[in-house]
Amino acid sequence: MRALVFDSFGGPLDVREVPDPGPRPGGVVVRVAASGICRSDWHAWQGHDSDVVLPHVPGHELAGTVAAVGEGVTRWRAGDRVTVPFVNACGTCAQCAAGEHQVCSRQTQPGFTHWGSLAEFVALDAADVNLVAVPEELDLATAAALGCRYATAFRAVVQVGRVRAGEWVAVHGCGGVGLSAVQIAAAAGARVVAVDVSAAALDLARTLGAEVTVDGGTDVPAAITELTRGGAHVSLDARGAAVTCENSVRSLRPRGRHVQVGLLPPELGRPSVPMERVIAAELQVLGSHGMAAHAYPELLGLITAGRLDPRPLVTRELALADAGAALAEVGRRPGIAVVTSF
Ligand SMILES: [Zn+2]
Ligand SMILES: [Zn+2]
Repeated sequence: MRALVFDSFGGPLDVREVPDPGPRPGGVVVRVAASGICRSDWHAWQGHDSDVVLPHVPGHELAGTVAAVGEGVTRWRAGDRVTVPFVNACGTCAQCAAGEHQVCSRQTQPGFTHWGSLAEFVALDAADVNLVAVPEELDLATAAALGCRYATAFRAVVQVGRVRAGEWVAVHGCGGVGLSAVQIAAAAGARVVAVDVSAAALDLARTLGAEVTVDGGTDVPAAITELTRGGAHVSLDARGAAVTCENSVRSLRPRGRHVQVGLLPPELGRPSVPMERVIAAELQVLGSHGMAAHAYPELLGLITAGRLDPRPLVTRELALADAGAALAEVGRRPGIAVVTSF
């Protein structure tokens, strides 16, 4: 198969022929129809993920059709249209038994623990636990975003942030996950403040439902505290940087909820969270990590009912040959880039 490969961290990203994957017991191989390019892929390429073994094929935000089914799989057959959360849960550990598949103790992740979906085919584990059927009315390029950024944003806003109508929600960083969070929070009836250093990203955030925008280069906590008359009820660091994490915590009103969504690899510096404010104002500091496959029906129901629409977030469709350049410059252009031709 053709795949995007890197042989060294931060080194060349080449498209070349590599051996086709086979399905492992309990797993499937999916013919990839669409694979988004996410900041996590950039982290994998940069060597920020200790699971990655070289040479490596990145890609974890995918949709496609089942091509081969491994021993013991009962729910899926060749030709099924599917997506999958980037956390492929084992289905049997204590976390999975509690329904918390997104923090499975024995998880695998395509594009991190094994080769990923910026390729014609990708192997996925524990298919009966992890695959999600894509409704006919949803195209696979849009469905790919459900594998990581859109579903991650949904869980962060709805399930972890518990955003309610009328609350102020600050979203720090308007890349793919941030813009998704803007749309989902606005659809939940929240008043959304979007923050980014890019004017183009803020323009897109407004079209997706942000009521106000703040230039990330200014004193963001002061601006949000003033705009919201006391601070946000919920604030998300959707970028994953020391500055956005700190700004998010400092943007909250008393009893506010900070939700960490963006990855913070220690190589890029640890944030100094103002714990004195966490205690004095009874802030909640929450992590949100993808979303379990069993939680997808609620999200898919809102999409097929027209209450949520991830389509406008997909701003570019690329060929695999262009994926390396797009991965290397991730975050420079607003919206979600998806590889749709292999
Ligand atoms: Zn991702
Ligand atoms: Zn598990």
